Amino acid sequence: MIKTVNLQKVFTTEEVETTALNGISLEIQDGEFVAIMGPSGCGKSTLLNILGLLDNPSLGEYHFYGTEVAKMPERSRAQLRKGNIGFVFQSFNLIDELTVYENVELPLLYLKVPAADRKKRAEASLERMNMMHRRNHFPQQLSGGQQQRTAIARAVVATPKMILADEPTGNLDSSNGEQVMNLLRELNNEGTTIVMVTHSPHDSGFAHRVINLFDGKVVTENFHV
Ligand code: ADP
Ligand code: MG
Repeated sequence: MIKTVNLQKVFTTEEVETTALNGISLEIQDGEFVAIMGPSGCGKSTLLNILGLLDNPSLGEYHFYGTEVAKMPERSRAQLRKGNIGFVFQSFNLIDELTVYENVELPLLYLKVPAADRKKRAEASLERMNMMHRRNHFPQQLSGGQQQRTAIARAVVATPKMILADEPTGNLDSSNGEQVMNLLRELNNEGTTIVMVTHSPHDSGFAHRVINLFDGKVVTENFHV
């Protein structure tokens, strides 16, 4: 389903060059739940952003469902992201000016889904994340757990093939973190591929496979049975 060959990413700012990814080759199968771990600065978010078509590698190949996307311009990548990939971030990344409902409806607006269908799907997604009772609230009026459940409702509303989560429990207490992990597991059980960056050995226990990065390279891969 997705496959990278020798991915490299170099960031250049003024005189400083940082090699964030230094030759990453991996395959992720449809329906897998993969955790990416490693120390701060080892390239986890950079890798996730490239896998999620938010950024291009400097070198290497990225085959996304059979399409080579490594050199695709942002416009085409954005097109491919729509409806295929949902994102969940540590800091939730909701739009503060929009209500819970409007945040969740947004991906469907981008996909030009007709209004009646948007309402049905946004409400179903909110229902599922147990957020209907907060549908008219703004993100700042919610707890962290509620914000993350809203973000997950938004990530799944267009039924993406794959969810990319960057430290999704990083700003949550353990009970809200557990709720988020159970939701991700449930989505995975229904067939959604999940790639999650985490620092938490507990959270990585939800994954089928753990990929450990160090200095922009894969150092070990462990499969859970
Ligand atoms: P992690 O998520 O594992 O903490 P990152 O992928 O965020 O690591 O960063 C990997 C390395 O790339 C770090 O040295 C970081 O400073 C650098 N880096 C990440 N993004 C940028 C950027 N946009 N510009 C310059 N350097 C960056
Ligand atoms: Mg990071």
